[in-house]
Amino acid sequence: MKDKLQEIEEIIGKYVTAGKILSQVRDEAKDKIKIGARLLDVAEFVEQRSIELGGQPAFPCNISRNDEAAHATPSAGDETVFGKDMVKLDIGVHIDGYIADAALTIDLSGNPDLVKASEDALYAAIDVIKSGVDTKEIGAVIEDTITGYGLKPVSNLTGHGLAQYFTHTPPGIPNKHIEHGVILNKGDIIAIEPFATDGFGKIADGSWAEIYHTVARKPVRLPAARKLMKQMEQYKTLPFAKRWLESDKLDFALIQLERAGVIMSYPVLKEVEGGLISQAEHTVIVTDDGCDITTK
Ligand code: MN
Ligand code: MN
Repeated sequence: MKDKLQEIEEIIGKYVTAGKILSQVRDEAKDKIKIGARLLDVAEFVEQRSIELGGQPAFPCNISRNDEAAHATPSAGDETVFGKDMVKLDIGVHIDGYIADAALTIDLSGNPDLVKASEDALYAAIDVIKSGVDTKEIGAVIEDTITGYGLKPVSNLTGHGLAQYFTHTPPGIPNKHIEHGVILNKGDIIAIEPFATDGFGKIADGSWAEIYHTVARKPVRLPAARKLMKQMEQYKTLPFAKRWLESDKLDFALIQLERAGVIMSYPVLKEVEGGLISQAEHTVIVTDDGCDITTK
């Protein structure tokens, strides 16, 4: 039998390796984000490169632009190209379910302060993280950094914990001042992700979704839906893209599965007043005197 310590070291090793793969993919992908380039080419590059380097996508490559905060990914055959956009590239890589999650903003729109605000907030947050820190301290430093730029944090989006095959677990890491936080401990795996905006400071669900995840296994009658469920099994509880699936009745089968409570969609999240949004994100492992960034 493997001893407990060895098992923990192996798990940490997988988090670290997933982070290294992510960092390389991110650095290679960011240069591909240019006016006139196709979003789908960037998303497919990110996902394929993650696999080539020995990982798996932990979720579809998110390419959210302008007033979109998150959960946008190209559809199959999508011909959309980048314009003068505020582009958020959010990447997830996992090894055996152990996830690295990181994002950066590539600004093609000419708003450098917006990008700096979320980046500075991320590093200010990382500076205060160590075993024993209260998440309310993290929220405070993020909000104060962003408001220092005359901008607002997106208050209803948070960072989060990560667990095997789960992209979002407690605790939420606030991007604003809150009354009561929770204490972080050594070994916690946390994604910190401040969002800054020149809009109202809140997001709401948009009207389209390209990303889903499985929430329950239930019997379904429609053969096309059953076939899809089989394809989805490989993603376990992780998010997957509609364009990763193959079915001659894809839309119909997805609606059936959503109605049956088998899957849930992640609608694109949009700023309520249409403000531009920037994002910066790293995954960190909390240590006694600080934290290790796995996605540096
Ligand atoms: Mn992310
Ligand atoms: Mn995240």
